[in-house]
Order: sequence, then structure tokens, then C-alpha cells
Amino acid sequence: MATVDGWRPTNELPEVAFAGRSNVGKSSLLNKLVRRKAFARVSNTPGRTREINFFKVNDLFVLADLPGYGYARISKDRQAEWRPLIEGYLSHSPTLRGVVQLLDVRHDPTEDDRQMIDFLAELETPTVVVLTKIDKLKPAAVAERVEKIGRTLRLDADQMIPFSAVSGAGRDELAEALVSLVAER
Ligand code: GDP
Repeated sequence: MATVDGWRPTNELPEVAFAGRSNVGKSSLLNKLVRRKAFARVSNTPGRTREINFFKVNDLFVLADLPGYGYARISKDRQAEWRPLIEGYLSHSPTLRGVVQLLDVRHDPTEDDRQMIDFLAELETPTVVVLTKIDKLKPAAVAERVEKIGRTLRLDADQMIPFSAVSGAGRDELAEALVSLVAER
């Protein structure tokens, strides 16, 4: 799906969308989640993919890979392009059961991240926050960052999943969270 009013797959299966800044590790997480090497592309040109990609999993549910936002090295106009597409998709997806919002564990949420999280709260879309790349920090530092991000976003520890696409940490927990989202209702 490339534009708000453009083609999108019609689908009756429950859908879960994945959102995050460009380079946050979303493709790596999706590949780890479904245990494939190149299910979603791991981009070496961040900021390039601007469409929403849909992946049907086991004929049971659909994963929607939203374009990464907030890539600094493109023009302000191009940076703003993600908003209508992502917000339009999120507001007009009847089978959407929840969103997995990715944040890099090492960085504080950006203005874009906060706007996404606020928007999801407004829509009352169930949201799971995944903190990526935890292998880049020592365990004590991860714990500190989880605490800090939780305080900043007013989330409890059990609303955040620390994750690493390198070690696989958090993969099973995320899979369980997805199953609950898909099974609800
Ligand atoms: P995307 O732009 O959000 O899809 O991010 P990618 O999955 O393409 O990852 C961006 C960069 O971060 C790549 O160089 C990845 O190899 C790296 N990366 C992603 N996840 C992890 C992780 O869990 N640990 C480490 N150390 N690097 C990661």
C-alpha cells in the first residue's frame, strides 16, 4: 500500500502492524519473529521504503510493516510523508487488532515516537512497546533504560518487551503478545 487512498489487500484475517523509526531494527525483528532470513528486507538505505507491506502468516493473521519514519537525512517534506499514510492506515483498518511500536533501547523516544504513541492511544489501539537492540548494552544498563523509557512514556515494565534480533531475546515473549492480540475479541 503506497498511498492513503491507494490499493490495499482486502483481508478478513486479524492484522497487527509494526511501527518505528527508520533503522530501529524493524526488518530484523520481523525476520526473527517469523524465523526467516529475508522475510522483510533489512535495509541499508534507511528512509527509502515508504509503502506498507503486508505479510500473511500461516493463513491465520497478517503482519503490516509500516514505513520507518523520522529518517534525518531526507528533506522535511519527504519526512512528513509518512504521517498521512500511517495515520490513514491506522484509522481505516477494521481488522487491525493492535500495533507493535518499536523503540531503540539506547535512545529516548523522539517527538515522532511520542506522536505515534499518542495517536495510538487516541484510537484506543492496543499497543505493545518493544525495546530493540538490547545486545548493544550490558544487562544492568538495559534495566536502567527500560525504567527510564517506562517513566518517560508512563508505561509499566510489563507493557514493554526488551528485544534483540542478534540474541533472540524477547522473541518468544513478542510471539505470545501477538497471539493474545490476534486472539482477543
Ligand atoms: P529497520 O530500518 O527498522 O528495518 O532496521 P533494520 O532491521 O534494517 O536494522 C537497522 C540496522 O540495525 C542494521 O544494521 C541491523 O543489522 C541493525 N540491528 C537491527 N536489530 C539489531 C539488534 O537487535 N542488535 C544489533 N546489534 N543490531 C541490530
